[in-house]
Amino acid sequence: MTDVKKSGAGMLFFMTFIPFISFLAPAEPQSISAEERAVVSYIDAHKDDAIALLERVVNINSGTQNLVGVREVGAVFRAEFDRLGFQTQWVDGAGWQRAGHLVATHPGTSPKVLLIGHLDTVFERDSPFQKFERLDATTARGPGIIDMKGGDVIIIQALKALDAAGLLKSMNITVVMTGDEEAAGRPLTRAREALVTAAKGAAAAIGFEDGDGLAEHIVVARRGSTSWELRVTGTPAHSSQIFRDDIGAGAIFEAARILNAFREQLAGEPHLTFNPGVILGGTSVDFDSVQSRGTAFGKTNVVAERATVAGDLRALSNEQFQKAMAAMRDIAGKSLPRTRAELTFDEAYPPLAPTAGNERLLVHYDRVSRDLGSGPVEAVNPDRAGAADVSFVADQVPMIIDAAGLKGKDGHTVGETADLTALPLQAKRAAMLIARLAKGAR
Ligand SMILES: [Zn+2]
Repeated sequence: MTDVKKSGAGMLFFMTFIPFISFLAPAEPQSISAEERAVVSYIDAHKDDAIALLERVVNINSGTQNLVGVREVGAVFRAEFDRLGFQTQWVDGAGWQRAGHLVATHPGTSPKVLLIGHLDTVFERDSPFQKFERLDATTARGPGIIDMKGGDVIIIQALKALDAAGLLKSMNITVVMTGDEEAAGRPLTRAREALVTAAKGAAAAIGFEDGDGLAEHIVVARRGSTSWELRVTGTPAHSSQIFRDDIGAGAIFEAARILNAFREQLAGEPHLTFNPGVILGGTSVDFDSVQSRGTAFGKTNVVAERATVAGDLRALSNEQFQKAMAAMRDIAGKSLPRTRAELTFDEAYPPLAPTAGNERLLVHYDRVSRDLGSGPVEAVNPDRAGAADVSFVADQVPMIIDAAGLKGKDGHTVGETADLTALPLQAKRAAMLIARLAKGAR
């Protein structure tokens, strides 16, 4: 007991001194270099410029289908990259029915770093949500303010700070800002060809999405997703004869069998989900897969001839995708008598599987954040991370993180709001991470 009392008193003694110790501690963190200090000073001195640029691009509508608007936002950023000495190129998106992408390259001798943004938003020209609006000293609302024009501005701000500190000139950096992240054009392989090409030889890739909106979180893994369609045919007959050898169970029972087997065999596997979102069945079915709507006709006394189901599938690795798709095809292939099922999968958004390299990049980012005095950074649960463009380079780049962009809340809604204090913080973190990667951090 006395021992406990003693240590308790010791703790009390120590705690009373903490405020004094923190008071004495310098406001500037210790473990950053003189060059990094110059980066930090630049960003602090140019906070308002960054917000002004953000306001300017948020006020240009760039809904994915507003091709002119997407190109206009691209032109604003292109001019910024040109001023920084990047070689810039607009990759036309006619081949996948979208605006296109901005690619900016800065050749240098250091290890190549790929930075990823996107120019489009989910708010089209007919949305009521069109303008940047300052709410108070630290917050602003606007379409795409965090998803992800804020992230794009952070890229620019970080590069300007690196340039001002004399660090940019030897750097090998490629920036890709896609024009159709929110609704990628098809074929996907074509729509992401420029991004995949830009990733060649990169030692690291950083995505500037908003992630879950919290500055203490970063994405090192996210699931991929695809959609599937199940089309079942049966043998029409009078309902009184169902289950007869030459008539079978009908299309609706067969669709029900398949869906139930999906659930029984595959539900509960970690990180794997699949959801039938729409179903139609009867004598005739008319399903529009683009609009995800349709009509069906059938009678209670007729064995169903057709059934159509559309759903999605999400998985954390390509292996998990392949395994799940094979199991689903296998289930669909075991048709009940006198029925036939066809299961097709759309082109998949690839997963960003967790890798040791991504984990190392998180460690570097966490170190940067601690060195800046802005606390630790942790990984988001991959099941909570939505799809994004970094996943397309997952197989090519050894170290990848995402969600290094602007933070806030309510992305994809008319309440999309940014925490403007996160803008300089995220720019500092990004610039210092890029600087350390350029110096060979592995
Ligand atoms: Zn986004």
